[in-house]
Amino acid sequence: MSASSFTVANIEFCPLDLPITDPFVVATGQLQVAKNVFVRLTLHDGTTGYGEIAPFPAITGEDRENSLKNARSLREHLLGQSALQYQRLGHELTERAPDAPAARCGLETALLDALTRTLCVPLWALWGGADVRARETDITIPIASPERTLELARQWYKRGFRLFKMKVGHDVDEDLRRIDTLHRHCAGVAFVIDANQGYTREEAAAFIQGVNRFGGNLLLLEQPLAKHDLEGHAGLKRDCHVPIAADESAQSLRDLQAVIRHRAADYVNIKITKSGLLDGALMATAAKAAGLQVMLGGMVETRVAMGCSYGLALGIGGCSVLDLDTPLLLETDPVTGGYAYEGPLLLPWHGPGLDFDIPSFQAATSDRL
Ligand SMILES: [Mg+2]
Repeated sequence: MSASSFTVANIEFCPLDLPITDPFVVATGQLQVAKNVFVRLTLHDGTTGYGEIAPFPAITGEDRENSLKNARSLREHLLGQSALQYQRLGHELTERAPDAPAARCGLETALLDALTRTLCVPLWALWGGADVRARETDITIPIASPERTLELARQWYKRGFRLFKMKVGHDVDEDLRRIDTLHRHCAGVAFVIDANQGYTREEAAAFIQGVNRFGGNLLLLEQPLAKHDLEGHAGLKRDCHVPIAADESAQSLRDLQAVIRHRAADYVNIKITKSGLLDGALMATAAKAAGLQVMLGGMVETRVAMGCSYGLALGIGGCSVLDLDTPLLLETDPVTGGYAYEGPLLLPWHGPGLDFDIPSFQAATSDRL
């Protein structure tokens, strides 16, 4: 194998509409169809790797059109470069497009998938293979009526899910009613509560008191307040004795450093689509070094981006909460191979790279979507 085998020879994009079974409603907006883009990167030796661009406009402000435009521009920088220098390339992508993490994530994933396929090792081996085992994920229940909430929860409960990620943030009383109902009907469940910045400080405190009143098992409260309100998060953490997770407050390494400085969180939700893959990996390491717990999550993604995140959990180890469920919320799975779901468990793969194929991949021949 010569050094030129690792040179990036081609990068193609395939836009794909992915209908979601139930509208994915969060405090700041909703998605009914995930408008993602698959990336296929080919090395000089003919090895291909896949990545996924999964923008969520209401959360990061990126949409498919601007993500694709950014990805096409970054593509020019990667062509002719060696995949062996992926850290340098990752830094350069961040410098060139700091506000396009979804596009960077798709390109970086495809780059590392191709590299590890050429090297004949699973992608998680690149991060060190610290914790290679089946892991349990939570399951997301979007904001919906109490009746639909219970119906969805019962379906997941029957399939073995015991950690419910409840989207809240529109109305404290209604949120408490939905969670109390699940607490009473689904024995032994715990809750990750994600308000996506939807509460004021007073509402968040009232919500925590309400959950304490009926004895719900609250594992953590994610991003209750506006992302810049680090003082408010620190106050809730201190005064209400509930573990707080930073998500929108921690989009980049610099954000994370501010969260750490303000003691604003106990957990950080790392998402490769939110920060880019290589910056996300750096953030996970920095969070652990600062004594924070790492949660790994995602946007609305297929098993390509989510498999890459699971690979981070397997590789770097020490990730305490996995929120890697969105492929289960999609109507179809366009991906073959790779990791598998068994109830709430993700089962590791052992083939090279991410070990996927995307049979329907059709490269777009123009910028028209
Ligand atoms: Mg979140």
